[in-house]
Formats: sequence, structure tokens, C-alpha cells
Amino acid sequence: MKTGKNYAMKNAGKFGGMQREVFHDNLELSGTEISLNRMRAGDSSPFVHAHKRNEEVYVFVSGKGMAFIDGDEFPVAEGDVLRVDPDGQRCFRADDSNDLCFICVQADRGSLVQHTRQDGYLVEVKPSWMQQ
Ligand code: ZN
Repeated sequence: MKTGKNYAMKNAGKFGGMQREVFHDNLELSGTEISLNRMRAGDSSPFVHAHKRNEEVYVFVSGKGMAFIDGDEFPVAEGDVLRVDPDGQRCFRADDSNDLCFICVQADRGSLVQHTRQDGYLVEVKPSWMQQ
């Protein structure tokens, strides 16, 4: 764990070695929850779930599998980025020959009122690699 005045960092290890790592308390996240997930080949989420308030974004980083959303079933694979609204009834499954690795980010739906271009601003300090 590495922390500073305005940051916290935890190493979760390689996707290939983890099962599920959830970040909120350990990074003191206040607006999102992030989980890193590896579903072993052939495994499924043990239940279908929905949320009261949070939308979720699933970023599939390796493998292939299937998504179930409100009765629709469709394949997902590395590179797919999937938004599911709070009411979406969801479940996922890894295909029989590949682990399915994904990052899930959840946040209160409608809470993002500005995007990077409106919220970010430039500051004058520079890291060592930009100084000369
Ligand atoms: Zn969820």
C-alpha cells in the first residue's frame, strides 16, 4: 500500500493470480467502487443481480464469455466495455477454455456532472522526466 496527501495505491497482483479484488475501503474511494475480477474457465457468477442506484461498467481485459442482461445473452471478450444500468439484471460466465478477466467500475448513476475537459486543469509543477 502506498499513500500520499492526495493518493492511495494498492497492488492487486496479476490478473492471472487473483480471484476478485474490490477497491473502496482500502483506497478510500468516495465516488466509485472498482473491482478486478478473474472468472475461471467454465465458471459463472453464482447469481443474477441488479443495483438500487449504481450503474456498472465492465471492462473486459482478457478472455471470452457470455453476458446475461435482462434476458439478453451475448458474447463478451477482451476489449468490450459494457455499461449496465442499475435495474439491469446481470450475470456473466467465462467460456469453457478461457478465464474471463474484467474490471468493474460502479458509481451512483447520474452523479457525474462534468467530464475530464471541464473538471481537469493544468498546474505548473512538473515531474522529473519533464524538467530540463
Ligand atoms: Zn453489481
